[in-house]
Amino acid sequence: MSGFNTRAVHVGSEPDPSTGAVNPPVYLTSTYAQDGVGVPRFSDYGRVDNPTRAALEACLAGLEEARHGVAFASGLAAEDALLRTLAPGDHVILGDDAYGGTYRLLTRIFTDWGLTVSCVDLGDLDAVRAAFGASTKILWVETPSNPMLRVVSIAALGEVAHEHGALLVADNTFATPYLQRPLTLGADVVVHSTTKYVGGHSDVIGGFVATNNDDLAAKLKFHQYAIGAVPGPLDCYLLLRGLKTLGVRMDRHCANARAVATFLSNHAAVERVYYPGLTDHPGHEVAVQQMSDFGGMVSFTLRGGAAAAHQVCESTTIFTLAESLGGVESLIELPAVMTHASTAGSTLEPPANLIRLSVGIEDIDDLIADLTRALD
Ligand SMILES: *Cc1c(COP(=O)(O)O)cnc(C)c1O
Repeated sequence: MSGFNTRAVHVGSEPDPSTGAVNPPVYLTSTYAQDGVGVPRFSDYGRVDNPTRAALEACLAGLEEARHGVAFASGLAAEDALLRTLAPGDHVILGDDAYGGTYRLLTRIFTDWGLTVSCVDLGDLDAVRAAFGASTKILWVETPSNPMLRVVSIAALGEVAHEHGALLVADNTFATPYLQRPLTLGADVVVHSTTKYVGGHSDVIGGFVATNNDDLAAKLKFHQYAIGAVPGPLDCYLLLRGLKTLGVRMDRHCANARAVATFLSNHAAVERVYYPGLTDHPGHEVAVQQMSDFGGMVSFTLRGGAAAAHQVCESTTIFTLAESLGGVESLIELPAVMTHASTAGSTLEPPANLIRLSVGIEDIDDLIADLTRALD
């Protein structure tokens, strides 16, 4: 098997056999002519299959070292399709720091449907073991987590899940397969918001599930067309294009984030910096073992409290005040009132003075100058 970047550029993008075009066509079609009644050449309908979507699925599944990959219209649509493989009465364990939308989906949609949910500190393996019951089917892990950048051992949590006959699901949105491949570490399923680093340019919403579990993949494929939260062909093309530069973008995201984290650690207005690349980060050793670099996300708290954090978020000029992450442009936000508002009052609620940065690929001197102005 060739290297990561070679596969990112070439898998799913073989030159088109009829024209030699080096990019896969965007197959804007809802249906396919049939050679006889019930004899389609490729598929019978655009929701069931699309060649541009299949190209994306082949590429990203391969990068995650998965036999199967299924693309969805958003990260939450991917999570929804995955959770519907469970049955009413089943139990899910979620980390106590996670994307607010995942928490909302589990607690406001799936509890009505009959799932039960527990949130635990995934760094405490005894607490994780204690949270399991006879009906626990999924242990859901985000590492690094959103927005506290906590890092937990995928291998250790995989063992705990498997001791109890449950699946370990890893949300790999923050790390991307370039930095971390959960299926090789013991996870059973990887989920992505491809909206973020995979797309990489803040111009598309998408989601993905990758797995080596054949039964689960068949159910997900069925959910993809039977429920119908499919991505459009143009979205699939944009995501496939994003994958080609994932490696070079991540290298720059990581280098810039490391410099920003170091700068913030030495700034008098900053209370605490959360970045797995800092040696005093509690998850640093685990991150060194399971990731090849530490990613482009940096969170930090301010001594001046929520009001100061609010002001800093409104004072940068290169860092754009916006939700989302993983694009080439730097973003700043206040999780407690923006991305994680749905966790208010729960154990997942982030500190009110926490700022989250998605560090882009701009020139680092400009990013540091922008933060310096805003913090002063
Ligand atoms: C954004 C995000 C999601 C949800 O994805 P959408 O594409 O916005 O639906 C899930 N997990 C994480 C970690 C995210 O950052």
